[in-house]
Amino acid sequence: MGIHFSSLRLRIALLLGVILLYVVVAICYRTIERRDADIAKALEALRTQAALVADQQSGIVQETRDLATFLFIGRDPTTFARTDLCSQALARFLKRNQALDNIRLIQADGSVLCSGRAAAFDAAKNRAFAGAVLNEPDVLAGTVTISTTDGKRILPIGIAIRTGAQAPSLLLMASLDLGWFGRRLGEASLQGGTRMGLVDSQGNVLAHYPDPARMVGTKISETAFFQNILANGGQGTGEQPGLDGQLRLYAFTPFTYASGGPIYLWAGIDKNTVTAAADHQLLSGVALWLGLALVSFLVVWFVGDRLFIRPVSVITETARKLSSGDYLARTGMVADGSEVGELAAMVDRMAASMASKAEILRLNRALRVLSGCSKNIVLAQSEEALLDETCRTIVEAGNYLMAWITFRVQDDAKSVHIAARHGANIGWLDGVPISWSDDHQGGGPTGKALRTGQTQLVQDIAEELDLGPWQEKIYALGSRSAVALPLTDGGIAFGALTIHAAQAHIFNPEEVALLEELAGNLTFGILTQRSKQERQRAEERVERLARFDTATDLPNALELVSSLELVIRRSLANRGQFALVTMHIERLLDIQDVIGMAGADEIVRQLAQRVSAVTGGVHFIARVARDAFAMIMPLDVESLAAIPRYIEAITEVPYEYAGIPVDIQISAGSAVYPEHATDPDALVRRSDIAARQAWSQGVIHNLYGGESERESPERLTLLSDLRQAIRTDQLVLFYQPKVSAQSPAVITGAEALVRWFHPLHGAVSPASFIPLAEQTGLIKPLTYAVIEMAARQVATWQHANKPMRVAVNISPQNLLDPDFFDFVSSLSERTGADLSALDLEITETALMSDPERARQVLEQFARQGMRIFIDDFGTGYSSLAYLATLPIYALKIDRSFVMRMNEPKYQTIVSSTISLAHGLGLKVVAEGVETREQAEFLRDQQCDDIQGYLYSSPKAAEEFVEWCEVELQTINTR
Ligand code: C2E
Ligand code: CA
Ligand code: CA
Repeated sequence: MGIHFSSLRLRIALLLGVILLYVVVAICYRTIERRDADIAKALEALRTQAALVADQQSGIVQETRDLATFLFIGRDPTTFARTDLCSQALARFLKRNQALDNIRLIQADGSVLCSGRAAAFDAAKNRAFAGAVLNEPDVLAGTVTISTTDGKRILPIGIAIRTGAQAPSLLLMASLDLGWFGRRLGEASLQGGTRMGLVDSQGNVLAHYPDPARMVGTKISETAFFQNILANGGQGTGEQPGLDGQLRLYAFTPFTYASGGPIYLWAGIDKNTVTAAADHQLLSGVALWLGLALVSFLVVWFVGDRLFIRPVSVITETARKLSSGDYLARTGMVADGSEVGELAAMVDRMAASMASKAEILRLNRALRVLSGCSKNIVLAQSEEALLDETCRTIVEAGNYLMAWITFRVQDDAKSVHIAARHGANIGWLDGVPISWSDDHQGGGPTGKALRTGQTQLVQDIAEELDLGPWQEKIYALGSRSAVALPLTDGGIAFGALTIHAAQAHIFNPEEVALLEELAGNLTFGILTQRSKQERQRAEERVERLARFDTATDLPNALELVSSLELVIRRSLANRGQFALVTMHIERLLDIQDVIGMAGADEIVRQLAQRVSAVTGGVHFIARVARDAFAMIMPLDVESLAAIPRYIEAITEVPYEYAGIPVDIQISAGSAVYPEHATDPDALVRRSDIAARQAWSQGVIHNLYGGESERESPERLTLLSDLRQAIRTDQLVLFYQPKVSAQSPAVITGAEALVRWFHPLHGAVSPASFIPLAEQTGLIKPLTYAVIEMAARQVATWQHANKPMRVAVNISPQNLLDPDFFDFVSSLSERTGADLSALDLEITETALMSDPERARQVLEQFARQGMRIFIDDFGTGYSSLAYLATLPIYALKIDRSFVMRMNEPKYQTIVSSTISLAHGLGLKVVAEGVETREQAEFLRDQQCDDIQGYLYSSPKAAEEFVEWCEVELQTINTR
């Protein structure tokens, strides 16, 4: 029951309330009327009562007066008074008048002559009253006295007895017994609570019934009651509270003639007593009314429900259904000619016409669904989104009850995966074991569509026999009809779109055709999404390949840079520090020559495992080159110090491949953020430099010792100073001889090494400013300056007839510089040098960045007669076989190998390098030779030339010349 029911009820109840209100008003009105009538009646009675009493009283007075007149007619009063006759006459009179206590014939001095009954009389006390009466022409009332004998309240009245012309000397004195009022009251037909009293004009209560003892003698002159009596001239009615506070109605009337002014008689009655009947009537009227109201409400509630509310709610519900699209809804009420019946019939007629329009609308909505879904297919970002959106569009745009999409699962149970769903109460599908098997579980339209690949239409859920175990449930959820449309690929249903509607027989052929079209489009959308996803996965694989090393599954250099960016960002935020440690596996290429590529990969894999084992797996480790790892390490004092230990731990036990034990050597270098560099590239480069330096210095681990941060102020000044130094002549060339290994007296050439004497800092090592120049592009003017100086020196020595070959170090960028060769060629003219005495030293790596271009440039130089030396040979990765294809004159075995030549392993490396080079027609120079043993070993191995401190450190030109002369002498004299 909804709000609309009760509000209708409320209105009827309200109407009833208004009617009942009239009744209650009428009851009240009647009660008031009756009250007023009762009061008026009571007042009338009171007035009558008062008048009656007053009448009787004045009757007594009149009789007393008559008695005074007639008793003495023809008699001498004084004489008569002394006879028994007098007493007998008075006794008779007394008997007749109950209101009198006594009647006496009294003389002026107060003495009694005769009396109605014998009783004591105080003559002295009554003398004054007797005197007053004798002077009064008519009856006179005295004051109330209390009888000393029997305590009665007495009002005396007196009248003089006039006979003849002389002044009267006798009077009749009647004692009015005020108790008589009480007795009168008892006789009165008034209700209980009636009171009566006498009050004199001064407000003294003379008599009061009931309760005379308490009331008589009280003074009420100030009370509203008494004032009212005065105000009305002693005659009238009133309504005042009595002395006891009780509201009373009363009537009053003047009473007799009194010497001290009039006396008022009043009769009163409790107002409550008067109105009690009316009030009772009101009470019983209201009670009756309440009962009536209750019954009426109950009748309205129950009968009204049947008569109005139920029919109206049936009509309302039908209208609501119609408005929500259920055009089959009807009131089902009989047209009985009443207004309500008429309304119901009208609604039913309207429903019928709407139903026929709905046919068209239904097709419209199917079209709407179709177009909405087509839009989804174009816009969907994923299969999941496409399915969800499709179900949503079907339910919302199509106004269907629910929609879901299922896929066939190829398992034994022939189960079904519900991929998307929408609709009110769609949660019922949770855990419903729909199947596409040919049994009860597969009996629903979805299962059948999946099994047969045919559209399944259920026009009335209630009438179908076997739609699966959930048929009743689905009916309870409001479903009346359903259609399941197969999603087919290659003639086989891989999925189904199921739609339920809240009305039976709603899917007509046109609509089903449109929905089939929708299913076709959806299939296309799903297959498109899937192939797109396939493509995406392939792309992700490629992406992963690009970022991960396939052999070890470790991140590669690219990934390292991304991680560094991340760590740097984090460190920036919390001012953190970390180190990038690069670890070179030395001679991995040689190892690979022995155990093959797969073997080398296997060794690397094992190594990676050991690295993560010793570092506890907490650091980011990447394979940055075939033979190099890099590790990001949070920084503290111990962590850097621990690196040699780590490396010892991972190289201690030989590695193994196919049963062959493989010994490997690792040199590590670290660059610290932010001390050494603040960007990923510089960190990578510098930790790599540090690792190479470790190798050349013969240590396991080396902390980067070169330039600190790129943007540091020192670096910037150094940079501008270097620019200055190149332009002025702060750069000087030192020369170091290369001598023949077999006969050291033969100086085969010299290497020119640049020296910078900074005006402030003194000698600056090329190891620090050359990398700086390389990074900033200053290397071009620097190399130009160096070569020009070297050429001038060559020319000088040529002209002095002391020809000397001079080798100049070339940086990688110089090889890529298109002007480089032209510049060098131009030197012959400008300096007068024969350039064929000029040599170039180039590292392997310089050749690797653009091998084709390197080959062209080298060939150009070689044609000039210049000799090319491969500097630092052994630290790079190039193979000898490749180098042999270039116009190269000699290899310079790197100092790091020479340094380690006391170890047999390095002896083997050096000797095999020499013999291999010779085999390829290359000469071999050993650099960094410091000991005689090294020199002897090299000589024994047929090394061609030797360079090193053993013979000479680099020296300024003049010193170099001097040295040459002395050395030649020494050697010659040896
Ligand atoms: P490098 O080309 O390998 O030069 C040899 C370095 O080894 C020189 O250091 C030299 O003084 C040092 N050396 C020679 N014999 C011995 C020895 O017996 N024991 C030891 N421990 N060291 C020895 P230097 O002059 O400090 O040069 C360092 C590097 O700077 C050079 O290595 C070279 O790569 C670069 N360099 C120097 N001058 C130039 C230049 O004019 N142009 C370019 N592009 N690079 C230069
Ligand atoms: Ca060199
Ligand atoms: Ca070198």
